[in-house]
Parts: sequence; C-alpha cells; structure tokens
Amino acid sequence: MDVIDVVVVGGGPTGMTAAGDLARAGRSVVVLDRWSQRNPASRAFAVMARTLEVLDSRTVGGRSVTARLLDHGDLVPRVDLWPGAAVRLADLDSPYAGVLVTPQTTVDRLLEDRAREAGATIVRGREVVDLAQDADGVTVTARAGDEATTWRASYVVAADGAHSTVRGLLGVDFPGRAVLSSVVLADVRLAHPPTGPGLTLGSTPDAFGFLAPYGDGWYRSMTWDRRRQLPDDAPVDDAEVGAVLDRALGREVGVLDVSWRSRFHCEERQVARYRRGRVLLAGDAAHVHSPMGGQGMNTGIQDAVNLAWKLDAVLGGAGDAVLDSYHAERHPIGRRVLFQSGAMMRAVTLHPRPARAVRNAVSGRLLRWRPFADLVAGGFSGVGLRYPRRRGEHPLVGTRAATVPLTGGTVASRLRDGGFLLVREQGTPALATTTPVQAERADPGPALLVRPDGYVAWAGRRGDDGWRRALAAWTAPTTGSTSGREALR
Ligand SMILES: Cc1cc2nc3c(=O)[nH]c(=O)nc-3n(C[C@H](O)[C@H](O)[C@H](O)COP(=O)(O)OP(=O)(O)OC[C@H]3O[C@@H](n4cnc5c(N)ncnc54)[C@H](O)[C@@H]3O)c2cc1C
Repeated sequence: MDVIDVVVVGGGPTGMTAAGDLARAGRSVVVLDRWSQRNPASRAFAVMARTLEVLDSRTVGGRSVTARLLDHGDLVPRVDLWPGAAVRLADLDSPYAGVLVTPQTTVDRLLEDRAREAGATIVRGREVVDLAQDADGVTVTARAGDEATTWRASYVVAADGAHSTVRGLLGVDFPGRAVLSSVVLADVRLAHPPTGPGLTLGSTPDAFGFLAPYGDGWYRSMTWDRRRQLPDDAPVDDAEVGAVLDRALGREVGVLDVSWRSRFHCEERQVARYRRGRVLLAGDAAHVHSPMGGQGMNTGIQDAVNLAWKLDAVLGGAGDAVLDSYHAERHPIGRRVLFQSGAMMRAVTLHPRPARAVRNAVSGRLLRWRPFADLVAGGFSGVGLRYPRRRGEHPLVGTRAATVPLTGGTVASRLRDGGFLLVREQGTPALATTTPVQAERADPGPALLVRPDGYVAWAGRRGDDGWRRALAAWTAPTTGSTSGREALR
C-alpha cells in the first residue's frame, strides 16, 4: 500500500484549507468526505478580517481566495448588539476593516477549488469508519456502501466536524454542554430591510433576531424564541421567522421569501488536547460553540492554517515538538472563542429586565472607550489574537505581520508560495540566500521572520542573524536528542 503524507478526514472549510496548504507545499494529501457532493446548506455567513488576511496568501485561478470572496459579498463595518452598543470594525488595523457577509457555500466552493488546483486528491462519498495508528503512521478505512478502502498516511487531520467520527474512534472526550436550543437560521428577503450597512441584532427578554446582509437583497437571519423551544428536527415555519424577527427588532421587517431554513441547538465543547499522536483534531471536530459572533468557520480555517505548515515541516524532518505547538497555540484560542461567543450569547439572551438595563448601560459606556472597543473588535475579527512568545523574545513574536508595509507587494502576497518570509529592515540589501523569500520594509520597523501562517517568528535589528536560529527551530531536521522540541520550549 502506498503511504501518503496526510489523510484529511472531512472536506469542510477546515479540511479543505489544510489540504490546499499541504498540497501547495508539495505533500501528497487525500481528503475523504462522506458526502458525494459539497454541503449545500448555508450555515456560517461571516468571514472575519483575520480569515480574509490569511486567505489573501492563498490563490485559486490566479487570484487570491480573498479577492474572489470579495466578489461575492459586502464588507460590513459594524455589528449592532443592543441599544447603545455596537462593535465597530471600520477602524480595525487590517486591510479588511469589516466582516464579509457571504454564505458558507461560497467559502466551501473556493477552498475546494483551491485544494484541487494545488494538487490535493478529493475523494467524496467515502465515510471513514476505522482508524489505527502506530509508531510509523495511521491506517484509515473508509466505506462507500459495502465497499471498504484503506489508506495509509504519515498523519491524519481530523476535520470531520462537530460529530467527528475520528474523535469517537480515538476515544477522545468532547466535554461541555448544550447551551441554547431551537435557534432558527434562515436566508430571507425582506419588505422592510434594515437601513444601515451593518449587522443588526435585536432582542427582548424572550427572543432575539439577527440580520446580516448578503448584499444582493437577501439576508441571513438568526432567530430564537424562549417561548417556542422545539427539537432540532421540528420543521421551521416561515411565519415563525417573520414573527420573531418583528418582535426582537421591534418593528415589522416583512419576510417576503425564505430560501433555506434550519433549526438547531448550540453546544459549547472543546477537546482537552488537539493532538493524539499522529492524528490532529481541527475545526468543529476540536471545538464547538454558539454561532453568536460568527466564529466557527473562521476558527476552523485558522486552525488549518496553523497546522498545515507545521505538518509540512515535520514531514520534512523538523522536530516533533513543532506539531505539539499546534495544540499549544490553537487550544487557548479555541477556549477564548468559546468564552467570547458564550458571553455574547448569554448577554443577548439575558432575561430579567433590570439586568438588561444594566447590560445596556455598562456595555454602551465600555464600548465608547476606545481601548475596550478595540479589544472587542480585535477578538471578534481575529486580528487581536496572538500566539505566546518565549521569555526574552521580541514583543512582536507571535503577532500577525499583515500590516507591515513593504517596498514591493504585501506580506500576504509574499507568503503565497507557502514558505517563511524574511522582511529586511528598510534600506538593507538582499541577503545572499534563496530561502526564505525576502522582502524589504517600507518603514523604520525591525527586521522580521514571518511564518507561513503570517505570524512573526523572530524580530531583530541589522546585523542580528537570530532569524536563522528561529527558522531552524521550526524547520531544521533534528538529530539525536537535541531536537526542535527543546528549541521551542
Ligand atoms: C446549522 C448550522 C449553522 C451554523 N451557523 C454558523 C454561523 O452562523 N456562523 C459560524 O461561524 N458558524 C456556523 N456554523 C458552524 C460552521 O458551519 C462550522 O464551524 C464550520 O463548517 C466548521 O467547519 P469544519 O470544516 O470544521 O466542519 P464541517 O463544515 O462540519 O465539515 C466536516 C466535514 O466532514 C465530513 N465528515 C463527517 N464525518 C465524516 C466521516 N466519518 N468520514 C468522512 N467525512 C466525514 C462531513 O461530510 C463534512 O463535509 C453553523 C453550523 C451549523 C450546523
């Protein structure tokens, strides 16, 4: 049996991002998905600024994935939470100051096209039913009807969603609980749509309603009614969507059409460890939370972006600790996303009127205070998230490099080959080396070594060649007991 580098289980946004990145790096990668075609359900609707930044480093059909996504929706500048409180995204320190509203189907299609174009093999209609790992690799068995096929890979990315089969096969717990039931998602056309350009959220002690404009006359609506709690499989009545929206927003919106609807419940869960030997859990397979705040798809894509280059590095001989750093960096982010989306959901569904009045007064005042507003917008959009740095490292290590000005192109465009990027100080000549790719700063900031996922691995001044050690810690083949593991601790 041929051994491939990576089997990705699950062809959602997480799996396709990982597969595309691995294939771009020249790795053999097979995506197995149980459905014979892409999921046609709309589901997530928001692409956050940080996701747009990282997808700008990935291309399909000769243009960046971000440029293509922007063809399909509008970047909206603010999210109105409740009276007096809004998250302003227009001031984000990002090339994409807003949230792109577009159906998840658009994102799924572009990421799949990009993975295929990069060379990933996508096998649909195969449900993974068994998995066994040993010291050298992982054997994965998938079924199509009565026919079983086996793949052997060095590593497996488990991106098979909230009900992950791989998680079950590994015996991994998914601790947490159900937090909100009978949430109704729908795509609607309205007689009286909101007048502003942002995302609109309205709530009463017993209901909430949310509208996000796709930009083509259709809106994504999300509604919840404390007095109408039904199981997930109870059909959604179109009149129910209109009635709850009217009540929650405090005016008649007049639902004209409903093109897609779904009732579901939200859970908050996260696995304790994202790595189990040669199997790495990512996206909804690793964490789920309320859709409030639109983080699910974005967090999964960021997981994949963090993981894929590390798998490539380890397949190229780098120390095993490089893969451990996937958990170390992404698990705290997942926990934070659970906290953020949970806090937002609890604030929106707060019941006692006095508590709601306090919420409005306190949050309104806090959000008018710029540092707090920036903190919230940074968390919501993902641009405020950073990875930990070790003691003694430059404060920029672990931050994103998306806004560093270059004399030619952008950091995103210079990361499109999937490798590290060395950004020299302004006015310094190119170094006599072909790897990593080099660029020159257009401002007086320090030199940087930027990781393939766009985060700073090292920062320093002229004459300091610490970038070589940083690059080696992430990528150099290890020998004997002194491995990248020690270097990264
Ligand atoms: C009803 C609903 C509404 C949502 N609304 C929002 C929202 O408003 N905002 C937001 O940000 N997020 C939302 N989400 C979450 C968002 O859709 C997910 O976070 C995102 O799709 C996660 O991507 P993923 O690739 O990790 O998993 P998924 O998109 O779930 O993809 C998993 C893939 O794995 C495949 N698979 C599963 N088991 C197997 C197996 N055994 N073998 C092979 N393949 C398998 C599935 O077919 C699927 O294609 C919603 C989700 C649902 C279900």
